[in-house]
Amino acid sequence: MNENLKNTLSAILETKASAKLPHSLLFVGPGAVGEVEEKREAAKLLACSLLCSAATLDKPEACAVCTECLLVLNGNHPDFINVDCTDKDQASVKSIRELLARLSYRSFHGRGRVVILRSAHDLSAAAHNALLKTLEEPLPNTYFILLTENLSKLPITVVSRCQRWFFSSAEVQENLATLPEGIEMLLDGAISRDEQAVIELCTKIHKSKEDQPELLACVRSLLRKRMIEAVSLEEQQYISKLLQDFISAEYFISERNSNSHYALSAVFLSSERELATELFV
Ligand SMILES: [Zn+2]
Repeated sequence: MNENLKNTLSAILETKASAKLPHSLLFVGPGAVGEVEEKREAAKLLACSLLCSAATLDKPEACAVCTECLLVLNGNHPDFINVDCTDKDQASVKSIRELLARLSYRSFHGRGRVVILRSAHDLSAAAHNALLKTLEEPLPNTYFILLTENLSKLPITVVSRCQRWFFSSAEVQENLATLPEGIEMLLDGAISRDEQAVIELCTKIHKSKEDQPELLACVRSLLRKRMIEAVSLEEQQYISKLLQDFISAEYFISERNSNSHYALSAVFLSSERELATELFV
């Protein structure tokens, strides 16, 4: 387990130890990098700790050896429910309603339940609405952990009902360690839609030749950091949207040979937002 994941997980467990862990949680972070998807790993370890027969309030860590822990780790625990929201059947409003109805019965092993909704942003508006009441007033001993790569695609009504935790991959940490000089200031200007900063940032990236992929990765990691640090929910969602558009632009630049100056200005300048939609959808 890398340091970053370890630190976030122990912060979550501290919240659990102080009996302040809410029942609705939202884990935001990038998709799998190689074999590892940190937020998914964290959700599984937290589920272990919530269902473990040896864990207590004073010692919230999962023991990883009891039957409950082993069943969760192997993905066979009947009270550990995984929903893949990219799967149309699993994520349909009918399935979500059925799931909620099932949750009103006693859990199989009597220690509660953990429901993980992977790629929660892919749920339909109707499915999100069906979930709202449960997220607001969760059933006793039932925990919902929503996972998303794209905070901006989740309805604010869902986001505001969950406690948010952010995950970055080791790659993000690495990129942030090699930030080129002046790039933070330009990006902050671009985030606040300062036209001059956008032009300078785009020119800088456009003119970098061999190291353009590295520079794009740095800016992407920095955008992710700014999203995590954002104070208000609205700001978090705004930067999350920029981040998603930036990732699309990165794809078009590297895979489709799009003009980097044009593609990146479209991400940051609102007046060109329509162009961005046209470009990236
Ligand atoms: Zn255990």
